Amino acid sequence: MTKSSSNLVSNQKFDIVVVGGGSAGISVTASLLKRDSNLRIGIIEPGEFHYYQPAWTLVGSGDFDIKKTRRPMQDVIPSFATWIKSRVSSLIPSQNAVELSDGEKIYYDQLIVCPGLRLAWEKIEGLEATLGKNGVTSNYAYDFAPYTKELISKLKNGKAIFTQPPMPIKCAGAPQKAMYLSCDYWLRHHTLKSINVEFYNAGAVLFGVAEFVPPLMKYVEKYDAKLNFNSNLVKIDGQAKKAWFEVKEADGSIRKIEREFDMIHVVPPQVPHDFVANSPLADPKGWCLVDNKTLQSPNFPNVFSLGDITSTPNAKTAAATRKQVVIVAKNIISLRKNQPLESFYDGYGSCPLTVQQGKIVLAEFGYGGKLLPSFPLDPTKPRRSAWALKASILPRFYWAGMLKGTEWMTRCTDS
Ligand code: FAD
Repeated sequence: MTKSSSNLVSNQKFDIVVVGGGSAGISVTASLLKRDSNLRIGIIEPGEFHYYQPAWTLVGSGDFDIKKTRRPMQDVIPSFATWIKSRVSSLIPSQNAVELSDGEKIYYDQLIVCPGLRLAWEKIEGLEATLGKNGVTSNYAYDFAPYTKELISKLKNGKAIFTQPPMPIKCAGAPQKAMYLSCDYWLRHHTLKSINVEFYNAGAVLFGVAEFVPPLMKYVEKYDAKLNFNSNLVKIDGQAKKAWFEVKEADGSIRKIEREFDMIHVVPPQVPHDFVANSPLADPKGWCLVDNKTLQSPNFPNVFSLGDITSTPNAKTAAATRKQVVIVAKNIISLRKNQPLESFYDGYGSCPLTVQQGKIVLAEFGYGGKLLPSFPLDPTKPRRSAWALKASILPRFYWAGMLKGTEWMTRCTDS
């Protein structure tokens, strides 16, 4: 039975408090309770719904039903955990406490910080006013991913722009995945030759792990997409169908350019939440500082963090979270028994690059870009089996397995 926040008495204390009921928070709670069902765990989460975000890329191309990416939060909170339906406003590790938006404090023995990251739509001038209309879309939100499919099916000619903001972002491949699947749709519907496709990337490379660039470039060439690097979207006017980019030149100077579009797929800048950035747990850039291997705070040993909010230099993905969950669950159990921490994260993350409908280059890699393929196959080759994994097997495993504490494909090379 799930307990709810209505039972809360003021200043309640738990064995473990989990901040955020997303991929990381629900999974790590389930994994902890599988190890010790007597643990008193409170999950602080304000949202009514839990989302399976990795499928939104496929929603944008019409290959996945948006309704299957969302479930009521109540249905995913693990049995015997307490859902505190509220928002954390500050982290006070010196008092072993977090403060909620209504001023109430919740105390803990151990804290797990996993509220994801914040999509900073407001950093692109004019975007919020026009998103979801005027040909402006984004797969980064439940409400707008279906609009991507609507736009690509309506566009018969003209100009399509896809953008990527500065790193770090969650699922760094998602901006170009949207482009490949759109181009593949237009190719299959014989309209690609009439559509001018451009990719504007604030970064300097197509993909951060060099081994995957050549297979991706083959698709860029196949679709005749024009790549623009060091080009950061800063302003958009949907009604006028115009976008402005700041282009960083080789000498470091910034030039502003204006481009017209018929449709534009925007990926928002992504930042840590203020309540993390302004806390004693933050690193200088605002992410939750933890040891890269143990995922433990170096300054507050009873605090751990996982998911998109951590300072660890891995690809921010649900796939990374899948492995981090086990590291944090095992290490917290060890800490509670006064035993040394013996589980170590290797930086694994995965980016299933949807290069065309039915085919994926499954990029799996750890710290320093070390390739960590799960299967004994050439990881740079586009495969139908990887599409089946992403479109069918992983979503089902997510709801029925990962969120219930089933630890599948979680071995780390360092553990
Ligand atoms: P989230 O799942 O975002 O959950 C964070 C939770 O914290 C939310 O429920 C939120 O309500 C809550 N929260 C926020 N603020 C507070 C607060 N103040 N107090 C309490 N709770 C709070 N990953 C892959 O592995 N493969 C992919 O192919 C892939 N594709 C993606 C495509 C897109 C378009 C997107 C958007 C993401 C994709 N991802 C993919 C990334 C993946 O979804 C994330 O890495 C993953 O969800 C991170 O989990 P998390 O728990 O850290 O954050």
